[in-house]
Parts: sequence; structure tokens; C-alpha cells
Amino acid sequence: MAVSLPEHTLLTPGPTPIHPDALAALTRPMLGHMDPEVFALNREIQADLRVMYGAAPDTFTALLAGTGSLGMEAGFANLVEPGDEVLVCVNGSFGARMAEMATRYGARVRVVQAPHGEPIEPAAVAAQLDGARLVAVVHGETSTGVLNPVPALAALVRGSGALLTVDAVTTAGMEPFFMQDWGVDYAYTGAQKCLSAPPGLAPVAISARAFECFAARRTPTPLWYCDFDGLRDYWDRQSYHHTVPVNLHYALHAALRAALAEGLHARQARAAQIGGALQRALAPLGFTPYVARPEARLPTVLALRLPPGFDDAGVRGRLRERHISVTGGLGPTAGQIWRLGLMGETARPAPYLTLLRALEDLLG
Ligand code: PLP
Repeated sequence: MAVSLPEHTLLTPGPTPIHPDALAALTRPMLGHMDPEVFALNREIQADLRVMYGAAPDTFTALLAGTGSLGMEAGFANLVEPGDEVLVCVNGSFGARMAEMATRYGARVRVVQAPHGEPIEPAAVAAQLDGARLVAVVHGETSTGVLNPVPALAALVRGSGALLTVDAVTTAGMEPFFMQDWGVDYAYTGAQKCLSAPPGLAPVAISARAFECFAARRTPTPLWYCDFDGLRDYWDRQSYHHTVPVNLHYALHAALRAALAEGLHARQARAAQIGGALQRALAPLGFTPYVARPEARLPTVLALRLPPGFDDAGVRGRLRERHISVTGGLGPTAGQIWRLGLMGETARPAPYLTLLRALEDLLG
């Protein structure tokens, strides 16, 4: 029997519903990854990614054939060598993932921690910065809905000589990102988040300074698949490295074009508007913001504390029966919060009106 795949109202913090232009682009005729038309498309993607990341003209951009985690892993694999001191900011699951990856690539990891629901304090980073070769921080911590103060952290790192890696998985493409102005050396996201393209690609941006550090490595990058030089072979020198998923490139190209045509400030305003309206609509039911400090609330993932006595699993289960997907907490926040996605095509009135009507019906 064929599996039934009914249409869902996806309110999760990723993946997001695919943008109609990206969906249409998926049906374009298959071409080879070495065909000139694909290289021309890749060049447009590279230029558009520089705009999305607010990157300098000499910043190298590319798509890795994997999800956001591959973007994270490629950064540590290329920019860290065994014994290097790496400072990782951890205030949730994805910061913890960064610390784990850096450790596996042989770094001596120091962790700057903040409690779940709170942002990383720049002073705590300043206190531990001495001797670090690389500092890593998640811009939007999806697991808790916290926006970390990347501009302030970047200002500190800039003067220290360390490289700065920023996980932009829940921000780039929806929130303005200023890689050049902030002084970020390596940034990555996942196609299925703010861009509303299908999962399977990680758009990355690598500064000229990061490339200098990479060129001075004493040992080869242990992750052959995403070796920075291998990426350059394909994306800049147009020689074979591995077979890229051409149809996903079509879709991402279309989604990125649509995002830039809408404008990053307009997308930011859309997320803020829907998030604000949603918070106001859910307040009478007893949902309250999980992140106490308003300036630390991630605009693209609304984390709400559940009302006392709320049957989290039961209500989400009944919503799912109606084909509405809502995500709960992760790790220590499981059973305590909901995380409502406001990235890309999720930040639209229609899917949230569907949720509010269903909740009225179930709870009212
Ligand atoms: N970093 C952040 C902040 C994320 O939210 C996610 C996924 O939700 C990841 C990294 C990992 O991305 P992926 O699941 O695409 O590998």
C-alpha cells in the first residue's frame, strides 16, 4: 500500500513550506552538473548569497550538498586543527552541537554558557577570548527562541585576531545579516529554513581571511567532501569535485531570487508582524513569552511557555490529526514550550489562522 502524504500546515521551526517559485523550478529539465547553464546558474547563486549575507565582494559563497549541520561541520573541519583553542557559545542544543563538532575535530574547546532562554553575554566572551583561534556562536538558537547579540560579540572578536563563525540557520534570508560590517569569517544556513527551499543544501559564505587561515593549515582538511579548496575547484575553477544536486540548485536559486526581490527588511517586518499578532492572539489562552528579555527574542522562532496544566502532547497530537504540525520544546524545555516557526513561507497569516481556529475548536 502506498504511504499517504496529506498536505500539512507546517508551523515548525524548519522545514518550511516550499516557495511556489522553488517548487516550479524543481520540475526544470535535468542538466549535468558540469553543463555551462548550471555553472551560469551557480554564479548567480553565488552573487545572490553575497547579498543575502551582506558579504564583501571577495567573500566566497557556495552551496554544500547537505543540510545546515554540514555547513556547521565544514566550518570546523576546514578552520580548526588538532590542538587549536576554540571558544564556543552555548545556550541551547545547536550551540552544544557546535561544541561537540569542534571537539571531534581535535579542538581544545572552551565553552561560554548562558542559561536556556537567555542570550550569551558579551562580557563572558570577552573574559575567555584570550588565545582563541576561533569563536563560534549561533545567531538564532532555534531550541529556545533566543537571538544572540552577534554584532556585539563580533565587535569583541574583531580586535582579538580570532576567526568568527556564525550559525545563521534561522536568520539568514529573513533577518538582515551583515557579514562584512560585523566581521564574520564563516556563516552558513540550511535551504529549508528562511529561504523555503527544499532541504539538502547548506548555503555557506567564507571570508578572504578565513581562506588565508585555511591556506596556512599544517594538515589536510579531514572532511574531503567539503574541503574549501575542493569547493573552489567546482564553484570557481569549474572542474569536477563531486556531483552536485542540480535540481536542488534550481529550487534554491528561485527561492533566493524571490527572497531578495521581496527584500530582507520586508521579510524581517513580515516575521515580526505575524509573530506579534500570534503572541497577542495566544496570550488570552495563557501562553507567555519564554524568553524574558524582549531584545533577545528571536523574530523567526516564537518560543512560548505553555499555560499551567496544558496537555502539550495531547493537544499537539490532536492538531496533527488535523494535519497541523506544531513543535514543542527540545531537551530541557520539552513539555514546557511551543516553538512556532516564522521563517520564509511559514510567516504568513493563513497557516496561523488555521492554527488559531483549530485551537479555538479544541480548547474553547
Ligand atoms: N543550527 C540551527 C540553529 C538549527 O536550527 C538547525 C536545525 O534546526 C541546525 C543548525 C541544523 O540544521 P539541519 O537540521 O538542517 O542539519
